[in-house]
Amino acid sequence: MVIYDVIVVGAGPAGGIAAYECAKKGLTTLLLEKCSIPREKACGGAVMYRGIKILQGRIPKDVIEQKIYGLRFVFPNQIQSEFISDRMIGITVSRDRFDSYLSDRAVDSGVELFENARVVHASTSEDHASVELHDGHEYKSRFLIGADGVNSVISRSLGLRSQRKDLTLVGLGMESDFHVGYEGVLRATNNNPSVLEIIPDESRISYGWVFPKREKLAIGVAGSGVHMRNLRATFDHFHKKMEARLGVPLKLEKRRTCFLGGDGLHCKNVTNRAILVGDAAGFVDPMMGEGIAYAMQSGIFAADVIEEAMADEKYDETTLSKYQNLCQNEFSANFEMAAWAGSLGTSFAEKILSKANGYRFAADIMAMVARGDIGYSAIPYVILKKLPSELPNIIRHIVYQRTVPPS
Ligand SMILES: Cc1cc2nc3c(=O)[nH]c(=O)nc-3n(C[C@H](O)[C@H](O)[C@H](O)COP(=O)(O)OP(=O)(O)OC[C@H]3O[C@@H](n4cnc5c(N)ncnc54)[C@H](O)[C@@H]3O)c2cc1C
Repeated sequence: MVIYDVIVVGAGPAGGIAAYECAKKGLTTLLLEKCSIPREKACGGAVMYRGIKILQGRIPKDVIEQKIYGLRFVFPNQIQSEFISDRMIGITVSRDRFDSYLSDRAVDSGVELFENARVVHASTSEDHASVELHDGHEYKSRFLIGADGVNSVISRSLGLRSQRKDLTLVGLGMESDFHVGYEGVLRATNNNPSVLEIIPDESRISYGWVFPKREKLAIGVAGSGVHMRNLRATFDHFHKKMEARLGVPLKLEKRRTCFLGGDGLHCKNVTNRAILVGDAAGFVDPMMGEGIAYAMQSGIFAADVIEEAMADEKYDETTLSKYQNLCQNEFSANFEMAAWAGSLGTSFAEKILSKANGYRFAADIMAMVARGDIGYSAIPYVILKKLPSELPNIIRHIVYQRTVPPS
């Protein structure tokens, strides 16, 4: 039996990137995906600029649905806070095409891809890692990367996660793409489809979004798993509300639902010969549910650590725990700050964001964060550093806000 250097399970953004990076490093790599590609994924499809940077900006034009320059928060009292930058802060994509592009790219770099290959069990031993497929086939490798998403079989088989999900630690979301045509997108967005709308719910325990695509609107709701027991009713209510607000008929074709991320940084994500990446590891921003860029970055870290371990012929958990440290250093500031801000609730966000509405400096900071120039935790430092030169603008903004009624 062939023993691959690396088997990657799951061809989402985490697995697509991890497999590509492994093959580029000269490692023999097998990528196993349970679906046939392209496959659907419940997702708003907003890829923040730090994700685009990981791909060195090389994303085919037909994969990009819209270029995004701003965020708009629409609060339950209808107050809106808008932050528009001169710089692109992200793109929207259709996940089937985006993920398919990533796996094509992996195959072009030498990865062997098996579609319709559902892994049902994984194990590791002194000599190798092995995975068993639904049809009884077995494959072996020196290293295993679990990139099989939020319901990861790899994480449970290897004892890195329990069989039952803790709903206090994962999110739950439902979304649909509504085909409204090119003109419909323009009508719904007041001729500006380059803005992502985020709409906290009246209940203040979930939020919705409207993300413009080329001819579709991605509309969905998400919240903490424990609060989303009436997910379908919440989604249907939001759908109707958006139909009335956006002024375009939103014909519902298919609801897609999925858990979101988890508590990645407080869990063990490595064991002998194996590493979890992306949603399998639980690397999702706990406030906004953003996970694509983190999935891709963790895929790169996993490949780097495996390359080094291969060179040293070390396969043990201690060697691979360098991956854990890399993720901790890169993600913890953002995730901890997001968890803290999330715990303060939407009324806090409403107070802060409505004060900053339309303020240029706030839009610049938002762009810096989205582009990965700074992490969330650096925001206070940037504000303090710029405060002396920004003071006149801040005063002007406060005076303006007091004289102009909110939109
Ligand atoms: C409703 C919703 C909206 C979201 N919106 C956004 C957004 O706008 N922007 C953003 O950045 N993030 C968003 N996220 C989060 C984002 O979708 C995930 O963080 C991201 O997809 C993680 O990528 P991944 O590669 O780790 O996992 P996935 O994209 O889930 O990929 C896992 C892959 O593994 C395959 N697989 C699963 N089990 C097996 C198995 N047993 N054997 C073989 N293959 C298997 C799956 O078919 C899939 O292809 C959203 C999530 C939800 C639920």
